[in-house]
Amino acid sequence: MEELLELYNTMGISPAVYHYGEQALERLKERFQRIDMIAEHNQAKVIAAMQKNRVSAACFAATTGYGYDDVGRDNLEKVYADVFHTEAALVRPQITCGTHALTVALSANLLPGDELLSPVGLPYDTLQEVIGIRQSPCSLKEYGVSYRQVDLLPDGSFDYENIRKAINQKTKLITIQRSKGYATRPSFSVKQIGELIAFVKAVKPDVICMVDNCYGEFVETIEPSDVGADMVVGSLIKNPGGGLAPIGGYICGTAECVERCAYRLSAPGLGQEVGANLGLMPALYQGFFLAPTVVAGAEKGAIFAANLYEPLGFKCVPNATESRHDIIQAVELGSEEGMIAFCKGIQAAAPVDSFATPLPWDMPGYKDKVIMAAGAFVQGSSIELSADGPVRPPYAVYFQGGLTWCHAKLGILMSLQKMVDAGLVTLA
Ligand SMILES: *Cc1c(COP(=O)(O)O)cnc(C)c1O
Repeated sequence: MEELLELYNTMGISPAVYHYGEQALERLKERFQRIDMIAEHNQAKVIAAMQKNRVSAACFAATTGYGYDDVGRDNLEKVYADVFHTEAALVRPQITCGTHALTVALSANLLPGDELLSPVGLPYDTLQEVIGIRQSPCSLKEYGVSYRQVDLLPDGSFDYENIRKAINQKTKLITIQRSKGYATRPSFSVKQIGELIAFVKAVKPDVICMVDNCYGEFVETIEPSDVGADMVVGSLIKNPGGGLAPIGGYICGTAECVERCAYRLSAPGLGQEVGANLGLMPALYQGFFLAPTVVAGAEKGAIFAANLYEPLGFKCVPNATESRHDIIQAVELGSEEGMIAFCKGIQAAAPVDSFATPLPWDMPGYKDKVIMAAGAFVQGSSIELSADGPVRPPYAVYFQGGLTWCHAKLGILMSLQKMVDAGLVTLA
């Protein structure tokens, strides 16, 4: 213990900050145990799926060109389908990011004249252009797909009455975002999502229910596809890539929906048959294998952050004690200086680019300045320890990831240290 303290000290963490962290950890033992149990469950689920599908060295071979008969790629999709308990899956490096995966899922399953409904309020920023809520060439709106939205009630619950009213003859697909993203609403549990899907299907049985599963994978022992979702969609540089996937996205769901997605992604008639794996199979398999424990570490980091900052008077969403349905932690730091200090700490604790200093900048597409801290092996990966936020009241930093719990802990301690160094926090 003394040696660790000394080592941390050489890295810039004072004994006061370290001990404050240890006190918080004392209170979290039971909670961390429950997270480990979820990780154990999900780890077994992934291993069982890999065993059932006889994963072997042959699956790791690189293919190029068209990628016909790509055993590794086809088998990985079976593994994903088994873990998510779906009929089919599309898991591809050719899906460039989460937004792309969602775009494929939506545009493959919505035709001109159809209507898309979001019963959970405004979707994630990047989807607003995809849908056409904000004008963009090639939006769904341009292709004649209309959009309707029902906001959440003030307490964050579903507005069932208005959802019922919003569902009409044209309603073809509903999109449910599991994680809050950059909004202030709570994230939904899988159980809540299941209740919403059951309600929607009772009103209109043939409506397709899609869940934006970004940041939610492996946080619980069940996924939205276990409670009626026809498609679950996400990014491989978030949870399911386990930090090793350098690119990619997935869509798991019914055979019919996924087949359409494959036709949309490649071309009608070609579908899942093409798409070389370019040598990425080892990373995609091993990343998926590691994902349950990586997600557990990230979730512990989020809880640790809330338990460090909330007692110091900073509002945390979720708060220090409530249950979690994704790996995102928002901390309201109350000032620009606070955001800068916090992000400096996260950056200083990174294995990559630790020498860089994050500063607020005018990022294209954003109204306010944005600050970001990330020292990641995979650029932009947010399963790796990262923090960002728009510089405006309440000066909230959105913090997520950490490939290991130990790194997440170091990053959060360092963030607090920078707050102390800047005179923004005094520890008793
Ligand atoms: C990250 C995210 C997306 C988009 O993913 P990108 O990989 O950044 O394109 C969509 N929805 C939610 C809820 C997200 O968190």
